[in-house]
Amino acid sequence: MPELPEVETVRRGLLPAMRGRRIEAARINREGLRWPFPERMAERLAGARVEGIGRRSKYLLVHLDSGETLIVHLGMSGRMLVGGRVLGEYRQDVGVEDDAPGTHDHVVLDMEGGGRVTFNDARRFGAMDLWPTRDLASHRLLRAIGPEPLEDGFSAATLAEGFRGRRAPVKVALLDQGLVAGLGNIYVSEALFRAGIHPARAAGRIGAGRLAALAPAIRAVLEEAIEAGGSTLRDHRRADGEIGRFQDRFRVYDRAGAPCLGEGCGGTVRRIVQAGRSSYYCPRCQR
Ligand SMILES: [Zn+2]
Repeated sequence: MPELPEVETVRRGLLPAMRGRRIEAARINREGLRWPFPERMAERLAGARVEGIGRRSKYLLVHLDSGETLIVHLGMSGRMLVGGRVLGEYRQDVGVEDDAPGTHDHVVLDMEGGGRVTFNDARRFGAMDLWPTRDLASHRLLRAIGPEPLEDGFSAATLAEGFRGRRAPVKVALLDQGLVAGLGNIYVSEALFRAGIHPARAAGRIGAGRLAALAPAIRAVLEEAIEAGGSTLRDHRRADGEIGRFQDRFRVYDRAGAPCLGEGCGGTVRRIVQAGRSSYYCPRCQR
């Protein structure tokens, strides 16, 4: 499933194809994905100019000059194609061997200038909606999302407030989208390693020094992953078709039994299961 860095990578990849350009035609090839598409979606998109593309957590926000925003969630396997060049690689990518290329192209936008943007989703867990831009914060999918970790206000104080009194393990707390937006399993494990915090430690009982290190660690992990183009192994590619390479830089994630990469540590990375998800950590470096 794409996490925040993959969605941000897609956002940046879409900008040159969409920003400032008019949607000349929109083709909707089915009734909906995870949920039905909004009424008259094709008519509401056609003719609108894209003023910009934002992101809230894992949602792409395509702001239109009609006053509406197209909200896009990639779900499990959704992807955006620019110019269609990913289609040839896509079949082996999701293991749908028998489907002809284009079978899962559910929404196709013909952009001013001749470009084409396609939303393709084999498993159809993705979602799209159109909503008044001025009321985005009240949309049912967006209203409960917590602070964005890459925005300026995100700090140790933000985390301290969210963690206060919480007995839940910090790993589980950080996956709560109301506490921090968009963090997923991979990046939480990596950030906790960098901050030296054990994933099972109660969120409300982290020492001040380690807590101060956590917000910068979260930002650094996310920024490095965005720079590398994301890291999802199988189901996701950058908007330009290249596979993200951040997985080559994992320090603990998916490395159970391997030597810790902490300088002079000599410990071994361990895996535990928390709330049904794997956590990876070094018992020597993380307390
Ligand atoms: Zn270590």
